[in-house]
Amino acid sequence: MAEKICVAVRLRPPVSQSQDTSSATFWRVEDNRISLHKLHGTPIPGISYAFDYVFDETCSNAKVYELLTKDVIHAAVDGFNGTAFAYGQTSSGKTFTMNGSPNDPGIIHRAVNDVFRKIQMISDREFLIRVSYMEIYNEEINDLFAVENQKLQIHESLERGIFVAGLREEIVNNAEQVIKLLESGEVNRHFGETNMNARSSRSHTIFRMVIESKGIDSRSSGDYSSSDAIRVSVLNLVDLAGSERIAKTGAGGVRLKEGKYINKSLMVLGNVINKLSNGAKQRAHIPYRDSKLTRILQTALGGNAKTSIICTLAPEEVHVEETKGTLLFASRAK
Ligand code: ADP
Ligand code: MG
Repeated sequence: MAEKICVAVRLRPPVSQSQDTSSATFWRVEDNRISLHKLHGTPIPGISYAFDYVFDETCSNAKVYELLTKDVIHAAVDGFNGTAFAYGQTSSGKTFTMNGSPNDPGIIHRAVNDVFRKIQMISDREFLIRVSYMEIYNEEINDLFAVENQKLQIHESLERGIFVAGLREEIVNNAEQVIKLLESGEVNRHFGETNMNARSSRSHTIFRMVIESKGIDSRSSGDYSSSDAIRVSVLNLVDLAGSERIAKTGAGGVRLKEGKYINKSLMVLGNVINKLSNGAKQRAHIPYRDSKLTRILQTALGGNAKTSIICTLAPEEVHVEETKGTLLFASRAK
């Protein structure tokens, strides 16, 4: 993956088989292309997209990690910032991709294991790993490691760059420790009921690893070599809120408010990624400040950072409009 932004789509297996097939359509995957076809006929013109990868319903999390995300993680160990995120409507497989299942662990699990495996193989540097876990719910930042830390603010300083003030950071020494922390944080995620999914996630969650390392001078054992600077990189692994339009969830009141915030931040994310992928000049305006999500991700999107985007798709006929919307988001990221 030489490119800085790598985009893939992933079709999950169908859950509901029974449907009226008279006017039905289906998604066909051929190599790195996905197109919409009439069930008993021809391709539908204009709805065909190519991406870096198109994963069909037989694809495992192991393969997604290997092809799409591994390079972002390895680059982070080498000192480059990185972000991997899952975008898609509720029930399309974002959480399955990021968190996985007992048989097939997701991106986050694999990334954490990989980071610790990699740093053990590097003998001339000493590493310090810190993790944090937050959600953005209705444009409010909450700490998933410490429920009492709510409505946190974003600050910027010369010393620390952009940071979330008061967010708990845990220093971690091994993968098992991180997985335990994540499980405790998971309990604190916001869930809401919508017509689409009884426990659909209405918040963005960002799991962050900060990887810091210093060179060890081999001549004077244990001392740090002054010539080898400290490296600090930030790695964000993000499970976005469902991208479905508000009307479909039949929402009013609180759900409507949630939907508006979600749609706005996803739109800003799309604009930011679109500008970056079009090779926006260094000084071009990139609207990071238009949402908390993009502001938090700013240091690890653009510049030298590596980004991998996985857009998850539901194959069913009833979801065809949302799926088209997700493909449009993915195509704007290319
Ligand atoms: P989202 O987080 O986008 O709302 P989920 O990840 O919760 O969606 O997926 C919805 C359901 O579909 C879950 O039961 C999940 O286990 C299942 N699922 C999603 N993607 C896959 C996949 N690639 N293979 C098998 N099951 C999947
Ligand atoms: Mg989810």
